Amino acid sequence: METLDVNEHRFASVISDINKELQTKGYLSEDEAVGSSMAVEMTCPVPKAKVQLRQLMSEMRAQNYDVIIFATYRTACKLRFLQKQTHLHQIDIWNMIEAVRENGLHVLEPGAELEADRLEHVLTTAFSQLNKRVPLTQAVPVDRCVALTTNWLMSAYDRESTGHIRAFAVKVALAHLSSGKLVDKLRYMFTLISDTTGHLIRAKFDEYLRDLLMLPAAVYEGTSFRYTEEASRTFFDTKPVTVNDFLSVMTAIPGRQCLMWLPALNRMAHVENVVHPVQCEACRRSSIAGFRYKCRRCCNYNLCQDCFWRGRVSGNHSNDHDMKEHTSFRSGSKQIGRSIKKSLDCVPSSKSHGDSQLPHFPDKPQKTLDMSFIVPPTPASVLLNGPKDHSSTHSLEIASLPQSPQTRGLRKRAVSGGTESSHIDDEHRLIARYAARLAADENKAVSTPRVAG
Ligand SMILES: [Zn+2]
Ligand SMILES: [Zn+2]
Repeated sequence: METLDVNEHRFASVISDINKELQTKGYLSEDEAVGSSMAVEMTCPVPKAKVQLRQLMSEMRAQNYDVIIFATYRTACKLRFLQKQTHLHQIDIWNMIEAVRENGLHVLEPGAELEADRLEHVLTTAFSQLNKRVPLTQAVPVDRCVALTTNWLMSAYDRESTGHIRAFAVKVALAHLSSGKLVDKLRYMFTLISDTTGHLIRAKFDEYLRDLLMLPAAVYEGTSFRYTEEASRTFFDTKPVTVNDFLSVMTAIPGRQCLMWLPALNRMAHVENVVHPVQCEACRRSSIAGFRYKCRRCCNYNLCQDCFWRGRVSGNHSNDHDMKEHTSFRSGSKQIGRSIKKSLDCVPSSKSHGDSQLPHFPDKPQKTLDMSFIVPPTPASVLLNGPKDHSSTHSLEIASLPQSPQTRGLRKRAVSGGTESSHIDDEHRLIARYAARLAADENKAVSTPRVAG
């Protein structure tokens, strides 16, 4: 495992600086900071893992995401930063699942716990495999990636410092922090929380939601996106919930308030390399990278994400105007895609959602017997591990801007859907078969007691 290259003399001052910053930003109580920095000066007992973690959090703070006035974007920015620092964003969801399976996590009993070194093994597999797929010059530092990810996940899910983490939590976190389409991640999750007839198990969904919401909590956004039993109960009606019901609710726009950061995080990943040849009216930069926000009232008034997220305006434009979020640029032609609506109260105003973009999957789990000939262990389409960006051609409508920086969250409403190519349909069919096989394996594992793992 890589160690921090810090000699003992510099060690104390590094810790002290990090503590000071964490303390200033409210991440660390005065007692904690004083206690640990004094201990460092005396005996240097602070574990390397803790130092790395604090450094990571300190670097995140340095990005100044906290000035973003929308909790949804703020949280997505922080999680995206962590994805990149740990290089999890380079590992495709399907490769991540393979790493989980290679280390036997798929045959563990429900509720099984792992020791930190078992988590390290999973991550070592995932990052080592990644290095085999990318050119040598793009290889990631496996030890460092493993250490950072392990430390962060342990801090997020092992709040009592028992040295153990639930296998299920590992799957939830790694799946959602890897790259790939949200719908694929959710389909994998559904295989873990449904029964052999393809119906959602409510208690497992509850556990899933709880673990999923540990992610925003781990970047200090737990107050904006909090788990509650009541919220969990209202996700689905009483009827049996199929994979399509699940996907429909989980990708709905507006989605449930506690999950609004999730599609935003996935959109953010897809829009990162998009450049709009349009000037930002607030900061005057000549082109806009990432999200672009266009006023629905002012003629041809565009803002870059940096300005919009921070509430910057110019001229006659005001924060009260409706805005539309764009993830692509098309000159002269009408922008295609869906729109969302944002509001102060974060509560969905209608039940519309992005169904038109969702593929439809069989409600019942597919039989796996005849599939071994058809489905490779890893779908061919993921072997290259490239980002699966098919979703950058929509835009989002935003209305009723928040009145104050204290405002937290967004309300979104789907208006129309984008088009999917037949290539994507093929990919979805392939993934559907693959997910069905995973589901069968998971169910087998659950129904077979005392499987060694
Ligand atoms: Zn700007
Ligand atoms: Zn305007």
